[in-house]
Amino acid sequence: MENSIYLHIPFCVRKCDYCDFLSFPGALCSDDIKAAYVDALIREIKLMPKAADRISTVYIGGGTPSLLDPSYMDRIMTTLHEEYDISHDAEISMEVNPGTVDMEKLGILRRLGINRLSMGVQSFDDRELKLLGRIHDSSDAKRCYEDARKAGFTNVNIDLMMHIPGQSTGSLKKTLEVVRQLAPEHLSCYSLIIEEGTPFYDRYSQRPMDEDTEAKMDVLMREELKAMGYGRYEISNWALEGFECRHNLGCWHRDPYRGYGLGAASLYRDMDGKEYRFTGERDLQVYITKMQALNPGDDPDMGEPLTQKDRMEEFMFLGLRCIKGISSREFENVFKKSMEEVYGAVLDRYLAMDLLEKDGDRYFFTSKGLDVSNVILADFLL
Ligand code: SF4
Repeated sequence: MENSIYLHIPFCVRKCDYCDFLSFPGALCSDDIKAAYVDALIREIKLMPKAADRISTVYIGGGTPSLLDPSYMDRIMTTLHEEYDISHDAEISMEVNPGTVDMEKLGILRRLGINRLSMGVQSFDDRELKLLGRIHDSSDAKRCYEDARKAGFTNVNIDLMMHIPGQSTGSLKKTLEVVRQLAPEHLSCYSLIIEEGTPFYDRYSQRPMDEDTEAKMDVLMREELKAMGYGRYEISNWALEGFECRHNLGCWHRDPYRGYGLGAASLYRDMDGKEYRFTGERDLQVYITKMQALNPGDDPDMGEPLTQKDRMEEFMFLGLRCIKGISSREFENVFKKSMEEVYGAVLDRYLAMDLLEKDGDRYFFTSKGLDVSNVILADFLL
């Protein structure tokens, strides 16, 4: 089991055209606001109740955490070490966007103890990057990757985006060829989702790509990554052996984690085994003001504990995202009920359709099932 911390840094140079993450460019990303935010974040880490004694993974996400000045990162990392026992072999990941770091900055981050980088590359095709509204081009992305290697990072993830309007199997193949040359340890490959409230939502009222083209791209990506030696360990995640992201695996296995920062989510397990899933304040100014007013011993608003039904649903739909699937023995240990008793009809239906498979006590998606996993996962809501 991992005990984890997530830190949210909500600043970006510019808002990408598809993005609905909690991140702010422009006036809300000024030096003064960044300074006030880091102070607030540090107060929250210091004054709020602790997550666990020993921490095995830390994930610094955003936004664009690499926009922060290294002196702020130094203060944040120092605070974490003062307040928590961070295990000597902890995985400490940070999201980095090309165009926001150079080798010197990356060297400082490495020396601060960050040992895994997750790069928001999305594509190595300049036309696609421009269309997405990213601030970088493919040369920036390659330079950023090479700088990370020179700075001593030996565990690097590249985020790729699939189903970008106008993307073709040809352009995807070229992007994957660059991936092959760079050889990162980990790849996250997400489908573009067109979210309401984004410029993309207004621009693409129709689905920008037909299902056949999407399916051809998915097959190409899977075959190429497999040929390069990557193993798929989660619906959207691939890694060389031993480089699976421990932090994310912990989230899918429902290990506890404490989120600090704007809108950060937590899964908290108390001494009695009660579990709380809660999210922090989402308004930037309100967050800063609240943290300034924080007193030692103040508690986060954790809401109601999760019910048995909530926990069972999460066990199923988070666990099934992993290629190894879920263990019916573990389900029974946790919930004192057999998985078949609760989910027998759904499991039988998808086993019969060859979308799920069972081996020993584990259920997992077949490759056919992975293609329609979103639809199937929704059926595990009770
Ligand atoms: S860099 Fe990431 S978080 Fe920032 S606007 Fe773009 S997609 Fe959103």
